[in-house]
Amino acid sequence: MNDKFIKKYSSMTGSSNTAYIEKLLPLIEEIKELKKKHNAVVLSHYYMTPELQIEEKEGGIADFVGDSLGLSVAATKTDADYIVFCGVKFMAETAFILNPKKTVLLPDDDAGCSLAESITGDDVIKLKSKYPGIPVIAYINTYAETKAECDVCCTSRNAIKIAKSFESKELIFIPDQFMGQNLAVKFATETDKKLILWSGTCEVHEQFRTNIESLTLANPGAELLLHWEVPQETVESTLKNNKGIVGSTSDILNYVENSKSREFILGSECDLGATLKGMYPDRQFITPCIMCRHMKLITLQKTLDALRSINTETEIKYKIKVDEPVLSKAYIPIKRMLDLS
Ligand code: SF4
Repeated sequence: MNDKFIKKYSSMTGSSNTAYIEKLLPLIEEIKELKKKHNAVVLSHYYMTPELQIEEKEGGIADFVGDSLGLSVAATKTDADYIVFCGVKFMAETAFILNPKKTVLLPDDDAGCSLAESITGDDVIKLKSKYPGIPVIAYINTYAETKAECDVCCTSRNAIKIAKSFESKELIFIPDQFMGQNLAVKFATETDKKLILWSGTCEVHEQFRTNIESLTLANPGAELLLHWEVPQETVESTLKNNKGIVGSTSDILNYVENSKSREFILGSECDLGATLKGMYPDRQFITPCIMCRHMKLITLQKTLDALRSINTETEIKYKIKVDEPVLSKAYIPIKRMLDLS
């Protein structure tokens, strides 16, 4: 019996559904064996279901759990032959661009992203000809062919630092308009920079509107944890009257760590709530629980299937591929971001 896993899973979910947990355990054991056999690591995003974001040291399958920046950095550090990416496609592509000699497997090829799908490389070329000479910052939530046309990438964690590194007073920020609007408010107080925005939105975070306001009214002492991708009007109206933060996933984790509050309202993907519950079991996290349908395509069973496919004819189904010249072109803005982080 994997007691460590059961304890962690129960703290993240508040559930002691032993029948369900017992079904997971044989899959976890086989995943661990296959990882060893094929020299593979599992990188897992905070928006994965709890069973996918429990680390090996806690009885789970993940070698590293993190946000987009943390996962990109972890991808540069591994000496494994295979990276199994429990996240969405643009993240797995980034891992491959940073490690083109390794094999990156994504357990479900349909795991997309509304932000990444909102803009193409051709759109960036058109933006550059409309605003000549203005640098383009691409949020990491873009596909490789889009990144290939941009000057630098950023994640929600390092966006401000990266924007400040440019001398230009105007910057094009793609593709999240709400994150761009929230950043613009911060820039107005800290810099003389103006952002030209694209019209993409995260289909999860754009839903945090009156539901957050209602939760603040029902839980007056709770502090707010809002992701950059939440609409600016929600951020403005709720943070005006309540304590809290708008920031990246790691800003949210740091804020909770340093806060004396016992109660928080989370405006981000539902399973970040599970991450927080697992990290801080003595605190309460209230969330409208909006899930990313793309992230939820990745399951423990599909992760096992991807590992079982190694060295078989089905491996191709899971393999991430980015062809030249996009591979080399997209590497430049990602590397620039890592150097600036
Ligand atoms: S949560 Fe939003 S930004 Fe993240 S993968 Fe899902 S749709 Fe994309």
